[in-house]
Amino acid sequence: MSKTSCVFCKIINGELPSKKVYEDENVLGIEDISPITPIHYLFLPKKHVQSLNDLEDMKIVSQLHKALVEVAHREGISERGYRSVINTGEEGGQTVFHLHLHLLGGKQLSGRIN
Ligand code: 5GP
Ligand code: ZN
Repeated sequence: MSKTSCVFCKIINGELPSKKVYEDENVLGIEDISPITPIHYLFLPKKHVQSLNDLEDMKIVSQLHKALVEVAHREGISERGYRSVINTGEEGGQTVFHLHLHLLGGKQLSGRIN
């Protein structure tokens, strides 16, 4: 997926709408369009990277997690618990090829993640 046709790049540059939950210099947090849990947010690096496999600077992984932890705290789910997930590649369940970190929470999640 090239940068120009990437749906998350279009959200980041304002071409497509989204419900923003977090923003800083490097990271945008948005509501997932098709949530599978009461709280389902996505944290995207503003710079286009296809997947974890293509990431040169691993610093972004901690920046995404830092944003997620802040939002989880703000949403009041830190103590109850939540799940943070990055799907990588086709067999990993990745459907949008712009790296993103899922925040899933607000209900009891299954212990199995597949
Ligand atoms: P993946 O399966 O790649 O890990 O997750 C992609 C996620 O992006 C899915 O949960 C899907 O619902 C979400 N998604 C796909 N298109 C859009 C969109 O245009 N806007 C938003 N907010 N989420 C999207
Ligand atoms: Zn992109």
